[in-house]
Amino acid sequence: MTSIARVALPIPRREPFDYRIPSALVDQVRPGVQVRVPFGPSKRIGWVVEITDHSPHPRLRDLDSVVADSAAIEPDLLELLKWTADYYLCGIGEVIECAVPKSVRNRKARTVRWVRLTSEEVAKEPSGATSEPRQKVLDHLRQQDHPVPLRRLLESCDISDSPVKTLARRGVIEIFDALPPEFGIPDGSGKPLESSLITPSFEPNPQQDEAIAAISATLEKQEYRTFLLHGVTGSGKTEVYIRTVQQALDQGRGALVLLPEIALTPQAVERFTERLGPVAVLHSMLPDSQRAVHYERLRRGEVRIALGARSAVFAPVPDLGIIVVDESHESTYKQENSPRYHARDVAVMRAHQLGVPCILGSATPSMESLENARTGRYQKLLLSNRTNGRPLATIEVVDRRVEMKSVGGGGLLSQRLIERIRTTLDRDEQVLLFLNRRGFARNLHCPSCGHDLRCHQCDIPLTYHKSKARSQCNYCGEHKPIPDRCPECQFHGMHQRSPGTERIEDSLMKLFPGVEIDRLDRDTVTSAKRMASILQRFKDGQTQILVGTQMVAKGHDIPGVTLVGVLDADIALGLPDFRSAERTAQLLCQVAGRAGRGDRPGRVILQTRQPEHYALSCATRQDLGQLLEEENSIRKLLKYPPHGHLARILCEDEEEQKAYESAKVLVEAMKECGLDSVQVLGPAPAPIERLRGRFRQHVLLKSLHRGPLREVASTALNTKPRWASTRITLDIDPQNLL
Ligand code: ADP
Ligand code: ZN
Repeated sequence: MTSIARVALPIPRREPFDYRIPSALVDQVRPGVQVRVPFGPSKRIGWVVEITDHSPHPRLRDLDSVVADSAAIEPDLLELLKWTADYYLCGIGEVIECAVPKSVRNRKARTVRWVRLTSEEVAKEPSGATSEPRQKVLDHLRQQDHPVPLRRLLESCDISDSPVKTLARRGVIEIFDALPPEFGIPDGSGKPLESSLITPSFEPNPQQDEAIAAISATLEKQEYRTFLLHGVTGSGKTEVYIRTVQQALDQGRGALVLLPEIALTPQAVERFTERLGPVAVLHSMLPDSQRAVHYERLRRGEVRIALGARSAVFAPVPDLGIIVVDESHESTYKQENSPRYHARDVAVMRAHQLGVPCILGSATPSMESLENARTGRYQKLLLSNRTNGRPLATIEVVDRRVEMKSVGGGGLLSQRLIERIRTTLDRDEQVLLFLNRRGFARNLHCPSCGHDLRCHQCDIPLTYHKSKARSQCNYCGEHKPIPDRCPECQFHGMHQRSPGTERIEDSLMKLFPGVEIDRLDRDTVTSAKRMASILQRFKDGQTQILVGTQMVAKGHDIPGVTLVGVLDADIALGLPDFRSAERTAQLLCQVAGRAGRGDRPGRVILQTRQPEHYALSCATRQDLGQLLEEENSIRKLLKYPPHGHLARILCEDEEEQKAYESAKVLVEAMKECGLDSVQVLGPAPAPIERLRGRFRQHVLLKSLHRGPLREVASTALNTKPRWASTRITLDIDPQNLL
């Protein structure tokens, strides 16, 4: 019987490719190894995902060779990658491509040459008998007392490499390849040098203690459990991560810590390294070659902690003992191109497969996580106070309907806010103003009573379509003529004015001449450097008022800020997405958390036209628990997550009609499945109807059960669309419905 290897290649195809294993290679070819295979006229490198003895394909080609010194994927990690491909209905090759840095896939991990004295030479007394350049090299190496990168040695001694080569030939020194110096000094055993670790000056408080104890118990028993660590901003969640990760290390196991991309600043990395020792850093802002080095260090067991963004959930940590997902509510954990995985959910699955604890930390957990905690699937751990004893900021709501007359900034700077800004500046304190104006909040809105036109079937705001002169539901396609009066209060002239951050900055300069004002949004931030410099100026107190979009909302800790103004708290509520209330409440809590981090108390002003909306009242009380109750009833009724499962199929085409017709064919095929437990909604124009020259139609699938939902979704993937030009994408558990 011939053995067959199923090989994943980095192309968007769901099934792996089958190859015969030549008998000479049978012993070496096993799941997880990298192999070279013929593909069309060329050769490609791929990973073996399975060994089998049968294939549906009649004529198979022979596998070419096993890649020497292959970056093999360990069986448990391969299991996770397979689960991901299977769950999100995408190709395993694509998942591997996202898990493994390119330089590792292409066998190009960057190493440099190092030089050290041989052990006999270290023992010897300096003789002084050699020629001058060689003596310089020996002196230098003796002084350093550890291996030195060849490049630096040549520079410091100001010599060519020939004396070094001579010394190596004579067995006085050794030249060897190792990872570059920024990843630690190789001390021969391949282990990084111990760094000087810092011990904190405080003991955990009782709530932290309780959380740590619960997680330790699970670590001790070596069993799976997911903890929802719900702690207000500044409540010391990181301390809980650090201490439990330390326990996993003490057990001789590894750890995986995920942070949102934007939070992976050098300071954040430092906080972990100064307590836990060296970590491997993996995120997309690093050049691939550096990611590759970190990846390799993990794989070889030289470092046992991986710290990274979304894709680090696939980091090759040997003997992984604990997984942490910080800011676990962040939508950046969901990848918005293929493979469209959610790193939080993959993390929970990885913990489950390995039988280890997983900690989901957040000040504003997602509805899904809160619901899982409520039903007992996750264990909830609460940190309800800031560690420095500071109260959370006082929140004051300004009803914009009362101040109808425009005071400044197109009606977005109320009298109350302007007064507060003035008193804050008088006290030499700083102001942060937040306006999340993203392009297209075009829904029909009554400026008088705050009413939004909504779809009765889907409970999302209808979108105003100027070209068609109608309002339309972007989920189900239902549409209505535009009323010329508000159906609630009969106000004439429904519309939405939308001044942006730039206009606000302009108004502020007129209102506060001589005050340093800066702006942080996608227009002013052209690079990570630019963003850092704007924030640094604010931190240093050079800027007194900073205006910005959601870029200012998260994570930054600026002690001088005592006033935070949210100019239009309703913006996100108007987005045609069932998560709009949840996102609004989360964002407002996060923004509010920016005020009063220092030793002076903070104040937040929320300007809104819907002060009675529960998303706002939850944010005002900083109580996400209430949100759960309000949202649950709506989501249960409409079977939205967490009370149902969603999938979204997007059809994009340069011609509107073709996008629609292709989507229609898929809908018909899906309905023919006859699975009544799956609701197929649409096709309807996506809220962003046209993107980069393509018209977008989407179809939503809703079901109480995942199994049938995935079956129907795969039917769509296996159906030939009406037009070959239509691009079809499937998103399981979509986070973004725009
Ligand atoms: P979070 O991650 O919940 O926002 P942090 O972990 O950043 O909070 O903690 C905020 C600050 O409090 C940090 O400077 C941290 O060192 C400090 N801290 C944490 N735990 C304690 C404690 N038990 N006693 C005193 N300070 C603490
Ligand atoms: Zn609808």
